[in-house]
Formats: sequence, C-alpha cells, structure tokens
Amino acid sequence: MTMRAAIFHEHGGPEVVRIEQVERPRPGRGQVLVQVRASAMNHLDLWVRRGMPIETTMPHIGGSDVAGVIAEVGDEVDAGRVGERVVINPSLGCGRCRQCARGEESMCARFRILGEHTDGGFAEFVAAEADHVYRIPDEMPFEEAAAIPVSYMTAWRALVSRAALRPGEDVLVIGASGGTALAAVQIARLMGARVFAVTKGAEKMERLRELGADVVYDRAETDWSKAVYKDTGKRGVDVVVENVGAPTWVGSVRALASGGRLVTYGGTGGPKVELDIRAVFWRQIQVIGTTMASRGEFEDLLRVIFAGRLRPIVDSVMPLDDARAAHERLEAGGQFGKIVLVP
Ligand code: ZN
Repeated sequence: MTMRAAIFHEHGGPEVVRIEQVERPRPGRGQVLVQVRASAMNHLDLWVRRGMPIETTMPHIGGSDVAGVIAEVGDEVDAGRVGERVVINPSLGCGRCRQCARGEESMCARFRILGEHTDGGFAEFVAAEADHVYRIPDEMPFEEAAAIPVSYMTAWRALVSRAALRPGEDVLVIGASGGTALAAVQIARLMGARVFAVTKGAEKMERLRELGADVVYDRAETDWSKAVYKDTGKRGVDVVVENVGAPTWVGSVRALASGGRLVTYGGTGGPKVELDIRAVFWRQIQVIGTTMASRGEFEDLLRVIFAGRLRPIVDSVMPLDDARAAHERLEAGGQFGKIVLVP
C-alpha cells in the first residue's frame, strides 16, 4: 500500500520538497501505525532539509510533531488501541542505557528525534513506538495537539527543570514569535514569573501582551538589553531563554542579573558566539544547555495542557500538499506560533 508524503531526495532549499506517493510504513514490534491528522513544522525541519550533518533517512520525510489516530498495531501492542486519538512523543533513546532507564532520552548518547533521524509525520501515516503515543482529550483539535511536542516540551524542560524558574522571578524570552519561544512565554507566565519578551513588529508585540508577557520590546526599535536593565531597576533578569545565538548572545548575557541563568536550546541566527568569561565568574552567571525533554517532563506537560491551563498557539493550518510553501513561510520567519500541515 502507498501513501502521500512531503519528501525530499536531496538537500537544498524549499524547492527540494515534493509531494509523492511512497510506500506506507508498517508498524514493527511494539509500534503503532498512526494515521496522521496534523503535523507541525519546526526549525529542525529546515536544518535537516538544508543538510545539517546528522544521520537521517534519504529520501527523507520530515515532521516531528504528529497528532492522529491509531490505525494499526504491531506485535505486542494492545489491539484495543486502534481508533485512539493520539499525540506522539518524538524523543527516541536507545532504550537500554542508564539515561533511558531514567526516562532521560534526550541525554542518551544515541538520542534521535522522530522525523529528523527517522521518517516523520509529513505524510498520511507514520510508525511510532506504542509507549511514545499518548491519548489526547476527545475535544482537542488535532491541529492543536500537533503544535505541542517539540516546542512545548523544549520550553518546559528549559524553564522548569534546567533553569529551575521560581515564582516572582524575571524572565526574558528572545525571538518571541517562534513556536518554542512563545511556549516559553506561556510557561513562564504559568509559573508565576514576570515575563519580558523581544520580538519584531507592532502586531506580534500586541499578541505577546495578550499571551501575558508583561514587557515587550521591538528589536528593530529598542536596544532591548539596555531597556531590560533599566526596566528591572538596574538589576537584570534572573533567566534568559535563548534560541537565536550569534545575533543576540551578547545582549542576552548583558541582560542577566548577578547569579542569573541563560538557558539555550538553539541558534537559529548562527551557532558561534563570543562569551566574555568575566561576565561568567564576576557576575556568577550560568550558561545552561537544554534539548527536548524527558519522558516524565513530557507527561507533566500533557497533564497541564489537557487540564486547559496552557493552550498551544497555532499560526496557520495548511494542506500537506503545500509543504513547500510551509517551509518558505517558516524560513521567512513571519509566523506567530506553529505552522501545521494537514494531509
Ligand atoms: Zn539510551
């Protein structure tokens, strides 16, 4: 049997993405086959398409954020799960090491991500490990469920576990219109922090205020690292959430209070940065890396979202057939929230 998929046979720009009929995957032992109803885009999809040096399938079907319906089960999986509405945890560990045993798959030496190292959800069907597939509430739209995994799990771990954010602390979120940065704004707000955000354009500033950001800066008009210093009473913020890298790094370090924590999960603007070591020891700051989340964190996050305390932000829903246009939209950076593809 075949299925429709957004696939590329070579690395390059959005033009390498094509819609083709390909072989439909079969669920292996311990796996389920999910009929995809929605799959969200991530910057990771752009890196992989451009040729980021990772071991990936080729030709490749991207898509790490998947929601859908279980269509088939493999051996050793309860057949009663067919028909379940689900979302997939895209973290894949080796399943045998000490980190995996603790549920810390993103710290496994053989950590992989569904849709990046393997074929993913920009297709009509995807195979996934049954224990990574979680039931979603009946009333939750698939588009919203697909917006959860990568962005929200990354922001959750970054703030809750890695930065150990406390109520009443000040947080600065850089690049606040991408999916994960918006998730960080929402989660920081939920945790009772005062939220500062940097974005571009009046419309995005307004939407960030609606999401609960207390102070919003337009990076085109304000030297935000100086403004933060002033707006915190010459103190700086306790936590900076970074995903831009080269263009913002110096400002992010400058914006930190003494003893502050800078937590980084990406470098969309360039990965090489300069770090004045005097800032690290004299102001006693911490630079903390984070990626994806543990199994327990993913489950905590789902509980909070399913309880209605956090609502994933969807920028736009496009047909899978427009996958190339979706790549272009994300590349242009005009989005606010997740771009979701629907087969
Ligand atoms: Zn492992």
